[in-house]
Amino acid sequence: MSRLIDGKVISAAVKERVGGEVAALKAKGIMVGLAVIIVGDDPASKIYVANKKKACEALGIISEEYALPEDTTESELLDLIGRLNNEKRINGILCQLPLPPHLDEKLIINSISPEKDVDAFHPVNVGRIMIGDYDFVPCTPAGIMEMLKYENISPEGKSCVVIGRSNIVGKPMGMLLLHKNGTVTICHSKTKNLKEICLGADILVAAVGRAKFVTADMVKEGAVVIDVGMNRVDGKLYGDVDFDAVKEKASAITPVPGGVGPMTIAMLMQNTLTAAKKQNGIA
Ligand code: NAP
Repeated sequence: MSRLIDGKVISAAVKERVGGEVAALKAKGIMVGLAVIIVGDDPASKIYVANKKKACEALGIISEEYALPEDTTESELLDLIGRLNNEKRINGILCQLPLPPHLDEKLIINSISPEKDVDAFHPVNVGRIMIGDYDFVPCTPAGIMEMLKYENISPEGKSCVVIGRSNIVGKPMGMLLLHKNGTVTICHSKTKNLKEICLGADILVAAVGRAKFVTADMVKEGAVVIDVGMNRVDGKLYGDVDFDAVKEKASAITPVPGGVGPMTIAMLMQNTLTAAKKQNGIA
């Protein structure tokens, strides 16, 4: 029976730390500001944006929401980002994805100033993660590293297996584990012998997007299992890990919900604070 890695507790600790630093900056006359852009009416995106706004408010971060209509043109969106890039009161800019299909996501992301790119999707920030000289890390892998640190689980010398190679989770996750001296294998849909590779993992991160994909026979006794998945099946949320069976083998495991999910917004707050400090010449 494994130890539960509780994302609600750990994210609360991160938020408390960030809120304290935001208050200290405010006392020096420095306000922290995040601009969140949403284009169109995607219901899931609207919920994410509302949650981000709520988190900002709770921590004393000023949030400005730019809700643009579905038919917003590329040049209108680029104009807005251009203005926010030059706006001193805004430290972080986040453009909620996915964008409507007529907008070029790559072009839009690349137009956000790297100093204000709190999602860490800009190629400059992606490159900086690669060379281990970074200010921002995409929020989900950043949250996972925070969880490991909180739980005193060091990747050093461990076999770390990441299932999934997306730009927002799998690839940066692999790099962060590597920077902490893990021996990293990144798996994907073309990987052969996935089960054997997973069985060798001391730390196993599942970011696949398929409910209960990781079964107990893929997990080594005593492994640490991190479940990134958020899969809705008949209205219920499932992770990528078959939690009930895997928890009997793992030494520590994150649940879904209440695991990695709550960490993501907490790390967005952390990245926004980092941006404000950098832009004000602090740290
Ligand atoms: P994604 O872009 O769809 O990537 C999924 C990855 O899984 C791909 O690299 C894919 O391989 C790999 N994969 C698919 N089927 C596989 C198989 N049979 N064997 C091995 N690998 C396989 O997804 P994502 O954005 O990384 O997200 C992954 C999951 O995490 C989703 O459930 C998402 O909702 C969740 N998520 C949660 C949070 C959070 O805050 N908790 C944040 C972000 C994402 P190929 O590259 O070969 O196609």
